[in-house]
Amino acid sequence: MYEEEKIEGTAEVEVEAEVETLEDIALVCRTCGKDFTFTVGEQLFYKEKGFKNQPKDCKACRDAKKNGGQAPVERQYFIATCADCGGEAKLTFQPSSDRPVYCSACFEARRSKK
Ligand SMILES: [Zn+2]
Ligand SMILES: [Zn+2]
Repeated sequence: MYEEEKIEGTAEVEVEAEVETLEDIALVCRTCGKDFTFTVGEQLFYKEKGFKNQPKDCKACRDAKKNGGQAPVERQYFIATCADCGGEAKLTFQPSSDRPVYCSACFEARRSKK
């Protein structure tokens, strides 16, 4: 006796999407704790740059870090006369009259002499 086996098979055609569907990702900034969106545009940018990780900070915090973490502080300089060469000495501190001040070149020269 011969039994015919009926093989039931459904030929499923798997359609694999070639194009990745990207969506905005909601993330929480580790610096300020605020929610921020890792947008599709940014994801593409990251991909292009080869970054594998998602950003850990929101854009504002990332921008702040790019700028050294804080707003650039303008340095104040005091102009004095170099006690050695008589040239202009740029100081980062207020020169006191009882101490000789030197320009950076003379200062370096004096320091390396010792
Ligand atoms: Zn932030
Ligand atoms: Zn000098």
